[in-house]
Amino acid sequence: MFAKILIANRGEIACRVARTARRMGIATVAVYSDADAQSRHVALADEAFRIGPPEAKDSYLRGDRIVEAAMSSGASAIHPGYGFLSENAEFAERCERAGIAFVGPPPQAIRAMGDKSSAKAIMEKAGVPLVPGYHGGNQSPDFLLDQAVRIGFPVLIKAAAGGGGKGMRAVEHKAEFDAALAACRREALSAFGDERVLLEKYLERPRHIEIQVFADRQGGCLALFERDCSMQRRHQKVLEEAPAPGMTEARRREMSKAAVAAAKAVSYVGAGTVEFIVDRAGTFHFMEMNTRLQVEHPVTEMITGLDLVEWQLRIAAGERLPIAQKDLRVSGHAIEARVYAEDPNRDFLPAAGRIAHLALPAESGHVRVETGVRAGDEITVYYDPMIAKLIVRDNDRPAALERMRKALGEFEVAGPVTNLGFLYRLVQDRDFVAADFDTGLIERHRSELLAPSAPAGEEALTLAALTALSQLDAGEARRPGDPFSPWSLADAWRANQDSARLLVFLEGENRHAVGA
Ligand code: ADP
Repeated sequence: MFAKILIANRGEIACRVARTARRMGIATVAVYSDADAQSRHVALADEAFRIGPPEAKDSYLRGDRIVEAAMSSGASAIHPGYGFLSENAEFAERCERAGIAFVGPPPQAIRAMGDKSSAKAIMEKAGVPLVPGYHGGNQSPDFLLDQAVRIGFPVLIKAAAGGGGKGMRAVEHKAEFDAALAACRREALSAFGDERVLLEKYLERPRHIEIQVFADRQGGCLALFERDCSMQRRHQKVLEEAPAPGMTEARRREMSKAAVAAAKAVSYVGAGTVEFIVDRAGTFHFMEMNTRLQVEHPVTEMITGLDLVEWQLRIAAGERLPIAQKDLRVSGHAIEARVYAEDPNRDFLPAAGRIAHLALPAESGHVRVETGVRAGDEITVYYDPMIAKLIVRDNDRPAALERMRKALGEFEVAGPVTNLGFLYRLVQDRDFVAADFDTGLIERHRSELLAPSAPAGEEALTLAALTALSQLDAGEARRPGDPFSPWSLADAWRANQDSARLLVFLEGENRHAVGA
């Protein structure tokens, strides 16, 4: 096993990888940009290297500096986390050339799956079911329009190099196709430097179900069950859960078989996720494979009792998969919610600012919190504004939902606006609770999920005033000095000051003045 690893990431995932490394007795090296010099992931590591200014392209995407830091620290492996360089084949090669193990698949597997079109061609050959569509090389608009007509509207145009929901457009009618294609190409070119697109039948009210796979260098490959990530906003995941509601043993076996075939088709090694889109009838189709650890991996850990980062490190060090498929079991139900600094009432605009107060739900065997921030830290405009991932587990889905509702209620953030209120409503949405959902649920229920809440009433303001006053008094009583002095009395008497106070509370844009 490695004695020391470098973690080429920031935020919650850097902290999460460091925790497992520490438990395994592996020393950790952090890298940081100038915006992150004081951040939690740096504080948790044994050593830390500055790699550049705040912009990701000048720091967390600088593979050369990261490999240099690994060499000078003596780290023998690099864990890339997710995002940044985690699916960058050149970076994996750079690590290899420097004699450092890349904790991820071989570069050729990253390349094969990095392009949605080539991935589909490989999957087709491996007999994995695809969404009806076109993923070939002919990119002429007229030809693509003919293909769209053949597939039948609505169709989805996707950037071949796409990711994160960018460069994707649904087209309802033939007349809108040309304009949508042009827009999609522009977006793909500016986001990925590659304007190639593919076409897919746009499925109505589908579910997104993905299979976690793991492969070792000795040819072993396992499927660690599914995650349902259908609760999305603009094709981005908001809630994830495992197992998928309504999953049957037979369908799970079929999907797992297809996922393992996908991994084997590219000689995969390490942790990967095969994403499927599932139609109303339950038929599943390959969408893409993500060649890294996913944001939502904790729900799989919570239902299997496994540590996927430990598995990644063991496999990167050349060990075999530690367990056989027949010995894997699903235990209970787990749900993850992504807590973001963003404003649901301004179309989820990312928010920034100092976290003035942070209270996390108490962690237990049922509740897990993954975060990269502490009270006093800044959410900056440079990176993804995720504050934390909240993961709960219980014996069944209703009990897990109840845990989630309670934990969200305990989660307190003051400073940047967050999506906590939105999540709190979402986990109580009638259809979601009834497990009757698909990728369009959030959009369909938008008006209820985003309805303005009633402004704070007299009771809430009185409680807020009492809390504020007791905190002010506690602060004053803590002053050193003679406890018998009249200055230490905690009654309302003040020298040179009125005994009445005016407290002003801000609730969104409303100011509430309370006389106390
Ligand atoms: P990205 O790589 O940009 O995240 P994906 O191909 O993984 O894009 O798709 C993201 C999401 O878009 C899916 O989870 C699903 O909600 C939706 N989606 C993708 N393909 C289809 C399709 N053919 N029909 C309907 N929805 C789709």
